[in-house]
Amino acid sequence: MKSAAVVNYAPEKGSVEIREIPKPTIGDDDVLLEVANVGVCGSDLHQWTADHSWPVNYPVVLGHEFGGHIVEVGSRVVGWKEGDRVVSETAAIIDPNNPMTRQGLYNLDPTRKGFGYGVNGAMTKFVRVPMRILHRVPDSLAFEEACLTEPCCVAFNAVVENSRIKPGDRVIVLGPGTIGILCAAMARLCGAEVAVVGLEADRHRLAIAQQYGCEAIIGDATEWAKKRDGLGADCIIDAAGASITLKIALQLVRPNGHITKVGWGPQPLGFSLDALVQKNVTLQGSFSHNWPIWERVLALLTSGQLDVKPIIGGVWPITEWHEAFEKMHHGEVIKSVLKPV
Ligand SMILES: [Zn+2]
Repeated sequence: MKSAAVVNYAPEKGSVEIREIPKPTIGDDDVLLEVANVGVCGSDLHQWTADHSWPVNYPVVLGHEFGGHIVEVGSRVVGWKEGDRVVSETAAIIDPNNPMTRQGLYNLDPTRKGFGYGVNGAMTKFVRVPMRILHRVPDSLAFEEACLTEPCCVAFNAVVENSRIKPGDRVIVLGPGTIGILCAAMARLCGAEVAVVGLEADRHRLAIAQQYGCEAIIGDATEWAKKRDGLGADCIIDAAGASITLKIALQLVRPNGHITKVGWGPQPLGFSLDALVQKNVTLQGSFSHNWPIWERVLALLTSGQLDVKPIIGGVWPITEWHEAFEKMHHGEVIKSVLKPV
């Protein structure tokens, strides 16, 4: 039995097509998951346009934001059964003996391999998932939303774990993509006043940030940053995909403030970091997520405290992946969601 899959087959730009692939076989500690929905991530787009900066194991099925039903369990699997509704984390392969893994920080294990680049991902009907990264999804939470647990976890790690935000803080998020908007929503949950900054072309995406109770700013955010006491914003979340935005973050942050960088940008920096020193600023990176973050984000999605519906721009069958990718690529939608056929 073969199923249609969105396959990234070579490093050249545009090397993505639908291929028929066999149903995966599972190991003793794995389950076979029948995918209900899979979100399109910026990293899927980057592999398609070939401007990614990580090694890819070609050919590979794209997609790492997914949920569905368990249809088969391995011989050593305990606590999971056929029919369970689940979402999966992204760390498909880790070294259990790596010191980072042993601290529970397997997201920072340098040998970690994820779905969609290291192993076959979820833009297809069936995917093999180790039981250690499964999380239960309650019946009340639709898969179209639950499949976006992953980017919500990226935002939770950046804003809640890796930043220090207190109620009443003024927080500026640079970049109105999926991660930027979800970081803004998380900062609102932390009790901050939040502004999301973008360009003229981001007008539509910034309007969605307003639905989360955020200020939308096109261009210069200096006035908003300095509004309270003239010193700058307490925290800047850099969720843009360009190095130059760090310069803006350094201008907007207040002395003794905090900058968390979650957006990737391969370009070298062309400016001085002296402001970081002079202002006594903390600069923090944030990468991926781990088990406790997933449990907490699922609780937020289930209770309705965090609502991802405003960012979903549409649901397409995977055979129409091209349209779904294009719409996100051009910023017409924040997040495209696919459905296997
Ligand atoms: Zn992602």
